[in-house]
Amino acid sequence: MRSWPASARSQLPGRGFPLRVFDTATGSVRPLEAGPTVRMYVCGITPYDATHLGHAFTYLTYDLLTRVLLDAGHEVHYVQNITDVDDPLFERAKRDGLDWREIARSQTDLFRADMTALRILPPAAYVGAVESIPLVIELIEKLRGREATYRVDRDIYFPIEAAPRFGKISHLSFDAMVERAAGNGGDPDRPGKKNPLDPLLWRAERPGEPAWPSPFGPGRPGWHIECAAIALTYLGASIDVQGGGSDLTFPHHECGIAHAEVATGVQPFARTCVHTAMVGLDGHKMSKSRGNLEFVSRLLARGVPPAAIRIALLDHHHTVGWEWTPSAVDVARERLARWRAAASHTRGPDARPLLDQVRRRLADDLDAPGAVAAVDRWASAALAAGGDVPDAPALARAIIDSLLGVDIEPVVAGGRSV
Ligand code: ZN
Repeated sequence: MRSWPASARSQLPGRGFPLRVFDTATGSVRPLEAGPTVRMYVCGITPYDATHLGHAFTYLTYDLLTRVLLDAGHEVHYVQNITDVDDPLFERAKRDGLDWREIARSQTDLFRADMTALRILPPAAYVGAVESIPLVIELIEKLRGREATYRVDRDIYFPIEAAPRFGKISHLSFDAMVERAAGNGGDPDRPGKKNPLDPLLWRAERPGEPAWPSPFGPGRPGWHIECAAIALTYLGASIDVQGGGSDLTFPHHECGIAHAEVATGVQPFARTCVHTAMVGLDGHKMSKSRGNLEFVSRLLARGVPPAAIRIALLDHHHTVGWEWTPSAVDVARERLARWRAAASHTRGPDARPLLDQVRRRLADDLDAPGAVAAVDRWASAALAAGGDVPDAPALARAIIDSLLGVDIEPVVAGGRSV
């Protein structure tokens, strides 16, 4: 699957600080403790109703994380999947009288365009579920070799009793896990299962649904095994960061990580689990099922500059849920205008302390609001005609571009807008 283009990043003097980040499994902010190359897997979208602001906020988290790591001298090997075959696609196709493959194709294109507009750094490998079916089959065979599969009718399940660490990421009670599984594609009530929480590995062919041949009969992959197979193939038996929205903590990440650990015997599969909090609208989490969505493409169509959308998202910490309001766009546009005006001067307040502050804030659990506040202070000083350091505005522009991913190059007459 084609990824999307990376926007250029300004070079900064010196080097950033080592990242400390909130790890869901331990419930604490910890040093990432990665080697020169950081391997990161982030769960991608199911391509329908793309790209709402909850998606955008999620992928911004891993974009910021990547920027901090690059600035600190790491290389980042970033892999993201796209679940381009799944029940919601079939339901949408039926409702709209379309081919599910066409919905997946057009929504994937829209997602790529939105990510490009928001200057979200792309994964090195962007991998579809359909193209990964041979990898899934191989992984199920591996689990079968470890006696970690069983059948219910023609479907294949994974017994969670094979995974001693199951539950160590989400820390939920059994009842809470059952409830979350039921609401997130699981089938805890299905008769014949050894444990209500056992996830599906391979769904045997059903009338009217697509299917692919396999040694266990025609069918299609379960959701969690798809990510485990892609991550193991593209990144190896152990990764530094498992990312995704906080709604994926259970069952998706708990199950996917259990599949990987049982198949390879390597623990932990994910050394750090970084989750992004949910974005709400009208008092509820933004979700497809509820229909309370605001889309990146709709804001862009209304003429909102992508840099303003990005700034509106940067105003929130990735571990804290928040509510989208239309006025956020106005606040962000004003902020963008102030930053742009401040950075359009040829001289200004020394920007080296700003570089230090932005680096410190972002290295401290990706404190984007703290970094935004530091830029605000520098811009206020510059607009108050403070400072006489040549090229300080150029350094401020580079900081904002490289670490926050916001392009504030001054608009020149007849030139581009943002
Ligand atoms: Zn996933």
